[in-house]
Amino acid sequence: MSWFIRKEKGINTPTEMKREAPDGLWYQCPNCKKIMHSREHKLNAYTCVHCNYHEKIGSDAYFALLFDDGAFTELDANMTSADPLKFVDTKPYPERVKASIAKTNLKDAVRSAYGKMNDLDVTVACMDFNFIGGSMGSVVGEKIARAIDHSLKTRTPFLMISRSGGARMMEAGYSLMQMAKTSAKLALLANEKIPYVSLLTDPTTGGVTASFAMLGDFNIAEPGALIGFAGPRVIRETIGKNLPEGFQSAEFVLEHGFLDFIVDRKDLKEKLTALFKMLQ
Ligand SMILES: [Zn+2]
Repeated sequence: MSWFIRKEKGINTPTEMKREAPDGLWYQCPNCKKIMHSREHKLNAYTCVHCNYHEKIGSDAYFALLFDDGAFTELDANMTSADPLKFVDTKPYPERVKASIAKTNLKDAVRSAYGKMNDLDVTVACMDFNFIGGSMGSVVGEKIARAIDHSLKTRTPFLMISRSGGARMMEAGYSLMQMAKTSAKLALLANEKIPYVSLLTDPTTGGVTASFAMLGDFNIAEPGALIGFAGPRVIRETIGKNLPEGFQSAEFVLEHGFLDFIVDRKDLKEKLTALFKMLQ
């Protein structure tokens, strides 16, 4: 923030070119607009210390939060998407994937890993929204299927953390097939009585909600997360009615029986450990 606003442009001084605080030192909550130290925000599991707003975080942060000492072994770390349909929208799909890899330092929209959570062996798959809107293409489906295979082989509980806009349109039918594939794999897990917990974070929509995200032995969510299949605008236009307040929020979805409970991210690790122990 600067004390004076310069009326005339084109006069460059160090004060105008340089920001007063280095990037990332302060965090402003997008909900209550209050400012806190980034470190304080991080220590609070990336939730606002004033209003408890849950900032959107990626697999990196969840793995650090959940695995003991942040130590884990990643599965299928280098799997990347092919272009079976030779799909082109505003740019060819392979170019979009390449640009997303460069921008996010991720290979696709999900990462899977195994490690210890409070000394309990677990397998975790976590989606990254930054990678093409956390969309589910064949890599996402395949990595989740393989993570479930790992869970089956080692008989360790499986945790899925979803954050997704739904199917990846650039893979069309291939993307939709992942719904059936992941659901079938989860059925095998259920047959073996290995616990599966699905955590829905902001937002979880489309084909992800319509498949693995809603198939947990427990389906749980973070506070305030948007959870739905189609977006509110599409629904409003289809049914021609205004939607109730809080529609598709985790709290609304819980009240209507689609969730088992809402968990504060600060309690996530303890609650999950207790839940897995109980289910085993
Ligand atoms: Zn806040």
